Amino acid sequence: MSDCIFCKIVAGQIPNHTVYEDDFVLAFLDIFPHAKGHTVIIPKKHFQSLSDMSEEEWQNMAKGIFKTVAKVREVLKPEGLNIGLNDQSVAGQVVPHIHWHIFPRWTGDGGGSFHSIIKTQEKIDVVELAKLF
Ligand code: 5GP
Ligand code: ZN
Repeated sequence: MSDCIFCKIVAGQIPNHTVYEDDFVLAFLDIFPHAKGHTVIIPKKHFQSLSDMSEEEWQNMAKGIFKTVAKVREVLKPEGLNIGLNDQSVAGQVVPHIHWHIFPRWTGDGGGSFHSIIKTQEKIDVVELAKLF
């Protein structure tokens, strides 16, 4: 997409600090890092949402994330990682080209877990909910 900032990075119109690249994905350092080594991994093809991607495209991403994590581990040797994504603006997505975040983690870095993203006030009956599946 011509006005997409991440498509411009893929096209080389905006510079990036590449962590990993293959035919399908590009991983680069986040320009406003929330952790040392905060890395963004994107499909080279533009998709706004996870739900726009095929199973094969998910598989390509999985391999790219695996390789990127290996590189981050090799270089920075974090004690742990958070990996996740904000899918759609309701979930905090700002750049409308789907991307995974890697946050390398160290003891005492002040961060939380994924559980700190949301804590519903709704009373949820898990047994009832499970019947839908
Ligand atoms: P989102 O909130 O959409 O999940 O995350 C978008 C991320 O992209 C943010 O962490 C932001 O710092 C990063 N970002 C936005 N523009 C650029 C850019 O031009 N270069 C790089 N390297 N990161 C960017
Ligand atoms: Zn794009």
